[in-house]
Amino acid sequence: YAAKSNASSVSLYDNSHDAHNPRRLAMITELGAAIRSEQLVLHFQPRFQLQEGRWCSTEALVRWQHPRLGFIPPGEFVQFAETSELIRPLTLWVARQAARQLAEWQHAGLEISTSINLSTRNLLDITLPDALAELVQEFGLRPGSLELEITETALMTDPDRAMQVVARLAELGMRMSIDDFGTGYSSLAYLKRLPLHSLKIDRSFVRDMLQDDQDAIIVRSTIGLAHSLGLQVVAEGVEDLSTLNRLREFGCDEAQGYILSKPQPAERACLIMQTPPDI
Ligand code: C2E
Ligand code: CA
Ligand code: CA
Ligand code: CA
Repeated sequence: YAAKSNASSVSLYDNSHDAHNPRRLAMITELGAAIRSEQLVLHFQPRFQLQEGRWCSTEALVRWQHPRLGFIPPGEFVQFAETSELIRPLTLWVARQAARQLAEWQHAGLEISTSINLSTRNLLDITLPDALAELVQEFGLRPGSLELEITETALMTDPDRAMQVVARLAELGMRMSIDDFGTGYSSLAYLKRLPLHSLKIDRSFVRDMLQDDQDAIIVRSTIGLAHSLGLQVVAEGVEDLSTLNRLREFGCDEAQGYILSKPQPAERACLIMQTPPDI
């Protein structure tokens, strides 16, 4: 492998990129139908407000239950949607399911929001913001409770166009957060010009922060800088209690990770969020 980055992107030169790879071919030809039929499913990963000690949000993460290939994680198929016209229907499918689920939770009295992930191409789609706003209206969601996670890389692809889309999303009352923060190329100064609500520190910094002083410094200073720019901070990939406690000491607002909960089907995520975690 010549290059391999995080789970959401592709290894550049392995054979899964070969159009003749049968698994890849099946995914490319069948994804459109899978989006239209009932083969995709959303899991929800609860997010926890560290300072207030309560569940506050969930992240919706898509999975594909393929009839022959079995369960396919998003890291393997979202890329195919991203490089084709399927990304808009995929994102709108995810947004609709997430909005429906969130409406159900809000009606049941859960004071939470839900985030969905946007891809690079979504940020170049000038008609997407209004389509998302219609969903918020259709399901009667509280304003700002459907959050959008975007990446620095997506913003840098075509900054002017992305800026227009982001501005429209903000105008329509949607909250945005920067995902995988620290793995892209933008700066906080650049981010300050965007109407952002929060910043998610990438798992690669959180994972070893108790062993690696430099990671701890990066995490702590990111929290400080983000706060001074008026942004909330979410730590991703928190897998143990000592890391969670250190993040709380650092003033981090929210945590998400296996120590709190793995991504779960909606009913299980809801059960988890009905009681405070045992921490
Ligand atoms: P992401 O947005 O950074 O999502 C977080 C990923 O980290 C999820 O993987 C989640 O299961 C995993 N994770 C959460 N907590 C922990 C932890 O404590 N330890 C470890 N090791 N991992 C943790 P998942 O669900 O496989 O998703 C992978 C990526 O696929 C996502 O990364 C996101 O970039 C993309 N993705 C998922 N759903 C969607 C979607 O609906 N639309 C788009 N465009 N992309 C999606
Ligand atoms: Ca990621
Ligand atoms: Ca995300
Ligand atoms: Ca992330």
